[in-house]
Amino acid sequence: MNDQRSYAIVLKVSAHGESDKILSLYSRDLGKISVIAKGAKRSQKRFVNKLELFTCLRIFCRPPKRGALYFLSEAELINAHLTLRTTYPRYVTATFINELIQLFCGEQDPDPTLFTLLSWALHTLNQGMSPAKTALFFHFRLLDLCGYQPQIDQCRSCGRTSEQSTGFTLHPGSGTLLCRHCRPPSTTSSFTLTVQTLKFLHSAQQMELEQLNRLQLPLATIYQTLGVLYHYSRHLLQQDIHSWKQLLLLKS
Ligand SMILES: [Zn+2]
Repeated sequence: MNDQRSYAIVLKVSAHGESDKILSLYSRDLGKISVIAKGAKRSQKRFVNKLELFTCLRIFCRPPKRGALYFLSEAELINAHLTLRTTYPRYVTATFINELIQLFCGEQDPDPTLFTLLSWALHTLNQGMSPAKTALFFHFRLLDLCGYQPQIDQCRSCGRTSEQSTGFTLHPGSGTLLCRHCRPPSTTSSFTLTVQTLKFLHSAQQMELEQLNRLQLPLATIYQTLGVLYHYSRHLLQQDIHSWKQLLLLKS
C-alpha cells in the first residue's frame, strides 16, 4: 500500500520498547492519529531531532491493517518550534494548546482549518506572541471550529446587548450570555465577562489570524477570560484540563 503524505504537529511522544516511539499527531489530512516510528530511539537518520513535542513535520505513513496505529515511514522537519521546548511559559502554553486538541478532537476526523489554527498558534508563540494571548485566541477559535462558539451578542433572556447592560455571565450549559438582570443569584463569578472583554472577543471572532496580535487587553482581563473559557470547556468536556493549573501559575 502506498504511503499517505500530510503535514502534522506532534502532540505527544512516548517510548515504545527498546527502540521505537509512539506519537500522537494532529495531521492536516488525517486528523488526530497515532503512529509508530520503528527504530526512532536508535537515532537513525530518518527521525533524528524530528520527533519532538510541538514540531511541525511533513509525514509519510501507512495506514494500519488493523487497529489504529499508523506506521511512520519518514518525516521531514518543517518547523522545530524550538523555543516551545526551551522557554517555560511557552512550553506550558503549547502543552495547554495540545491538550485542548487532544480533548476536543476525535481520532481520524480531519479538519484542515483546525490544523491551520494549531500551526498558527504554535508558530506565533514560538515567534514571541504573549503566551496568555496565544492561549486565549486559540481556545476561543477552537471552540468555534468545534461548534461550541459562545453566543456573546446579547443576553439570551431579555436581549440586552453589551451597550445596554453590564455584568454579563456566560451560562456554561448553553454557551449563551445572561445579563445581571436575568442571571440567577447563585451564578458564580467564574463565568463573568466585562463589556470590555465582550468587545475584545467580538473582534477576535472576526479578525484574520494574522491580525489578532493587534488586539490589546490587560493581562488580568485576559486571564479572567481564559478562566471563563476553561470553566465552560470543562463543562462541555465533563473532565478537567490538566495543564490549566500550570497556565494559571504563569500569571504570577
Ligand atoms: Zn438579560
